[in-house]
Order: sequence, then C-alpha cells, then structure tokens
Amino acid sequence: MGLVVQKYGGSSVADAEGIKRVAKRIVETKKSGNQVVVVVSAMGDTTDELIDLAEQVSPIPAGRELDMLLTSGERISMALLAMAIKSLGQEAQSFTGSQAGVITDSVHNKARIIDVTPGRIQASVDEGNVAIVAGFQGVSLDTKDITTLGRGGSDTTAVALAAALNADVCEIYTDVDGVFTADPRVVKKARKIDWISFGDMLELASSGSKVLLHRCVEYARRYNIPIHVRSSFSGLPGTWVSNEPLVHETQQQGEQQVEQALISGVAHDTSEAKVTVVGVPDKPGEAAAIFRAISDAEINIDMIVQNVSAASTGLTDISFTLPKADGPKAIEALEKARTAIAFDSLRYDDQIAKISLVGAGMKTNPGVTADFFDALSRAGVNIELISTSEIRISVVTRADVVNDAVRAVHTAFGLDSDSDEAVVYGGTGR
Ligand code: ADP
Ligand code: ASP
Ligand code: MG
Repeated sequence: MGLVVQKYGGSSVADAEGIKRVAKRIVETKKSGNQVVVVVSAMGDTTDELIDLAEQVSPIPAGRELDMLLTSGERISMALLAMAIKSLGQEAQSFTGSQAGVITDSVHNKARIIDVTPGRIQASVDEGNVAIVAGFQGVSLDTKDITTLGRGGSDTTAVALAAALNADVCEIYTDVDGVFTADPRVVKKARKIDWISFGDMLELASSGSKVLLHRCVEYARRYNIPIHVRSSFSGLPGTWVSNEPLVHETQQQGEQQVEQALISGVAHDTSEAKVTVVGVPDKPGEAAAIFRAISDAEINIDMIVQNVSAASTGLTDISFTLPKADGPKAIEALEKARTAIAFDSLRYDDQIAKISLVGAGMKTNPGVTADFFDALSRAGVNIELISTSEIRISVVTRADVVNDAVRAVHTAFGLDSDSDEAVVYGGTGR
C-alpha cells in the first residue's frame, strides 16, 4: 500500500458538480489500495473575489486580516469535499493548514513553510480516512497567527505534505493535461511535455507559467519529490517533473533516455508592473537606498535597469519590475524615502508583460538569443527590458502584444504541434 498526495486546484472544484467528480476520483484512488491525502484549493475564483471584496473596503488591506479572509476560501472547499466523499461511503476528515501541522514564518500573504508536523494527518489516514487539507495556509508559531503562502500556494502545501509524509507520489490535478510548451489558453498548438527537469520547470514557473508555483518546484527539488501534473477532467497521464526521467517512461521509449529538449517552453506573465524612479543622483548608495526601502516593505523585485546618466545633469533613471499586487506598497515606501534618496519623480506602469524562453539547451547554443529577438521583431514587438539566466531569456513588452509575441516565439522555435490542439477543460484563466 502506498501513500498518495493529490492536490486539486480551484478550477477542479469550481462548483458542486466539480466537487462530486473529484470526490469520485479520490474514492477510486483509495479503493485501489492507497492511503490518500488530498490538498484542496478554494472553489473557482473565490480567492480573487475575496481580494476584490477586501480592496473595496480598504485600498491596502491589512496583511493579517487579509489572511484571515482568504483562508476561509479553502475551508469551504475542504469541508464540502469531505462531505462529498463521505456520501460515497468513504470516511473522510478535513483539516485546516494549522491543524495539519503546516508551520510557516510570520510574513503575512506570502509566508514560507518552515516545518510540517503531520501527526494528525498520518493518524487520520491510518484510521482509514481520506484526509483533506486546506491548501495555501499555515500558522506561525511566533505570532500564533494564520498565514497564507502567496497566490497558487496550494501547490506548495501539497509538495510539503508529500515530503513530510514520505509519500510515493505527489499528483497536482488541474484544468489542463499537464505542463505544455506554452500556456494552452494562448497557444492552441502548444505541446504537452512528458517529462521536464526541476531546473527548467523552476524557470518556467518563476517566469509566469502558473500551472505550478515556483516555490512548490523549489521544495520538490530540495526533497526530491517527483510531481505528476495532470488533468482532473480527463484522467490522461500528464507531465512528470523530476530530477531524472522516470524509469517506466524510458522503458516505454525502448530503454532510451528521454533527451532533455533544447527549449522547454515559452512563459508569459502579465502580473507584474514597472516602477521607474526618475532623476536619481548618479552616485554610490542611491540604488542601495531605493532597494532597501523596497525590501523593508517586504517586496520582491524581478528585473532592474539603470539608464546611463545624462552628463549635463548627473541624474539617472532606475526601473524595476515587481508584482502588481505590491505596486501601491512600493510607491508608498519610495515616497516615504523621498527626501533621503532625492529623486525627481516616480512613474508606475502596469500595462507591461514579460515573455521568457526557457531551456537548459540554450547554455550551449549561441544562436538562441538572436533567434528570440528576431522572432519578436518580426512580430513587431518592441522590447523594453531584458534579463537572462543561464537557461532563460526574458523581455518586458507592452501588455497588449503579449499573446502575439508568445505565439511568434513558440512557432519560431519549432515548438508548435502539428496534431491535437491543447485542451483547456475548465477555469476562467483569471
Ligand atoms: P489550478 O486552479 O488547478 O491551480 P491554475 O490556474 O493555477 O490551476 O494553473 C493551470 C493553468 O495554468 C492552466 O489553465 C493554464 O492556463 C496555465 N498555464 C500557464 N502556462 C502553462 C503551461 N506552460 N502549461 C500548462 N498550463 C499553463
Ligand atoms: N486559492 C489560492 C489562490 O487562488 C491558492 C491556490 O489556489 O493555490 O491563490
Ligand atoms: Mg494553481
């Protein structure tokens, strides 16, 4: 008998029908002789709707209270799912993150898991129950407060529980058949990837492929937990994310090693905004002061560019990107530091998109960057910022050209499939 951790995303439990469909699949897994621990997200777009509601009563909602509000979404789905499973004749119990032993630091809205003590979960499955755990939430032992792990955080809950319970597999069920070479909502000719390394998946995830959250992949790599991403709607085999291609996969391919693709895929992200600090004195310490103010506000930044300063003024502009959700907080923090930093003005632009090309093969292929920029220029896409890692190139463009740009790059790198269109089974893409 094995222990399986299954995570169901919001689109898989969007309504009563969805919950009943998922309950059936869980009961089948249990009946086939496994212990089953389920991590569940809030129904449909509940989390977005709760955030909208919070913003209607407060422009910058207090972090602690926002966590109290948002964790209610997963409480609803976990209880309903447990009821649906019980009505199929299988015992089930639901648990909040804190009851399940998900211990985090005390940073509200993007807490990190620091420990998992799943005693109650293990006891529950040992008694024959299916244990249902609310995703995306934990508790800080320092403050005794409830925390959330950041958007998409249920993926991380699932992997963290799989590691702590020494599970045989961690399955992430979603509304597409696996990880594709691009978002199937944008590229109909995207191809499903059978296996992808943790390294490439990490880059795709941190570049905006929200099918898996980057912290979840980080966690899985650290504890070497293979993840199987698949659809809760079709039941088809999905994408394995692991260190090495799994043995049964290589056997299917006649004992051949599955080659790592040159390019794994194209990711895009419209969740970031760009802040430009205009007229910064070009002298040592200025950049440090700007980014200290931002980090003191607990905001993570992504790309940075600094212009060459105009010789006549000795002033320069510094631009950086950050999650849109942190935009108002960043502007507030910089305004507070205005006299110390002595800049002229701030510009805030939330009509940007980031497009990234990811693949370990680019390390050894010098033409990739040129081909990427060529494809963008042929599509008439102007580049505003550029950043690279060993296995990724990212650019920032206007938001309104992002879909065309992604499709152009996908085609240029020969990633288009010639057969089946990628299927999206549910969700609103929000
Ligand atoms: P869930 O509610 O199950 O957590 P998410 O909406 O978080 O689902 O993630 C699934 C979505 O991720 C898909 O519907 C798809 O639009 C999007 N996505 C973005 N990039 C990719 C990709 N490369 N492969 C598959 N899905 C992707
Ligand atoms: N419900 C949370 C969100 O939408 C967590 C998750 O779904 O993973 O971000
Ligand atoms: Mg998700």
